[in-house]
Amino acid sequence: MTATATATSHEAAEIGSVFVSNYPPFGAWSPEGVAAAQTALAAPPVPGTPLGLYLHIPFCRKRCKFCYFRVYTDKNADEIGTYLDALASEVELLAALPALAGRPLDFVYFGGGTPSYVSVRQLEELVARIQAVMPWTGAREITFECEPGTLTRSKLEAIRGIGVTRLSLGIENFDDEILRENGRAHVSAEIHRVLPWIRELAFDQVNVDLIAGMVGETWETWRATVHKTIEAGPDSVTIYQMELPYNTVYTKDLLDGTFRQPLADWATKRAWHDHAFAELAAAGYVPSSAYTMVRPKGASSSFVYRDGVWHGCDLVGTGVASFSHLSGVHYQNVAGWGEYLAALGEGRLPLGRGLALAPEERLTRELILQLKLGTLPTASFQEKFGVDVLAAFAPVWRSLEAEGMLRVEGETVVLTRAGLLQVDRLLPSFYDDRYRNVRYT
Ligand code: SF4
Repeated sequence: MTATATATSHEAAEIGSVFVSNYPPFGAWSPEGVAAAQTALAAPPVPGTPLGLYLHIPFCRKRCKFCYFRVYTDKNADEIGTYLDALASEVELLAALPALAGRPLDFVYFGGGTPSYVSVRQLEELVARIQAVMPWTGAREITFECEPGTLTRSKLEAIRGIGVTRLSLGIENFDDEILRENGRAHVSAEIHRVLPWIRELAFDQVNVDLIAGMVGETWETWRATVHKTIEAGPDSVTIYQMELPYNTVYTKDLLDGTFRQPLADWATKRAWHDHAFAELAAAGYVPSSAYTMVRPKGASSSFVYRDGVWHGCDLVGTGVASFSHLSGVHYQNVAGWGEYLAALGEGRLPLGRGLALAPEERLTRELILQLKLGTLPTASFQEKFGVDVLAAFAPVWRSLEAEGMLRVEGETVVLTRAGLLQVDRLLPSFYDDRYRNVRYT
């Protein structure tokens, strides 16, 4: 183990996205596909399909230098109010459509951006309007993403008060110099300030997000971050390996030659991820996916949103640039602030692009997403799709088994530790040829 990050030459630094969040890739979705989304929304749902609601709150105090999400750091309170008004109008329009009318919600996810950036009054007004048309009493999980520096005790009480069961805290790292370098808005003192309040409010589940491989990370700083995370005692810890898609500040600096610092290579990021998982295991946590370790405590260690999406539930994404999956159709809202507000102002849904999936694409989507859980019981694919996936993808299983990435044990596929640590790199092997080089944005 070295004292500093293993540096790659900047020419060789891998720019682009490895993380697989969906299939077929977003680059295959098109404006022509919006008609399929409209048809799905106008038809009754597929019986027995769980439904989730995603609310995109696209505001942050500062833009992190590795961030590739649609976020705004320049909006004033009035503009945020206008956006939240449009978001509530979008939910009201959706709630009246045949695909959603009267359906119970299985889960709700407040994502961003930074949902905790909005004020208590804004949050409570938004929730009152949404609950009037899509109540979430009875939902199994309400997740709310937070940035430590935006939280006060009274805001946390309000978040608890709207029914949040799973609080997800974007800590990323405990080292102030690393946080500053990477453009994070918060500092470690803000993390330590909010942790006691979060404990006192007794959310069903508290998750902490970390990133392995932020600029400036070393073995020493990473070990300290993992140690402090375990000391904080969350129910769940989620670790992402840092990557640099094309639209980040760091990528731009790399491409124009002004980036001068060491970057951790993939082997180092995997080693840090592995170290964190080993330390968490020693502290009593167990893996719940390639990214997440949880304290086993019954139903409250589950992650309903993730498991729903990875098993093909309906997910209605609201807000600018949000992604949805409904009755076998993918679609995304328009990605521009003005277009989004204009559509809702005219009483229209802000649909931007879509793609109707063929049955074999739905199967591949669920298969690659569920592989991220680390264990794939293939009989469930026979039951749901009538396909023996061990036979259908036989050459891929053989090749990944030969590489030491997985084992086929009877009807179950089990990823090895090496396979789990690089699962996203393995998934394109299952893609149809026409999607192998399609963009992930
Ligand atoms: S807090 Fe999250 S969404 Fe906001 S800029 Fe940073 S990475 Fe992006």
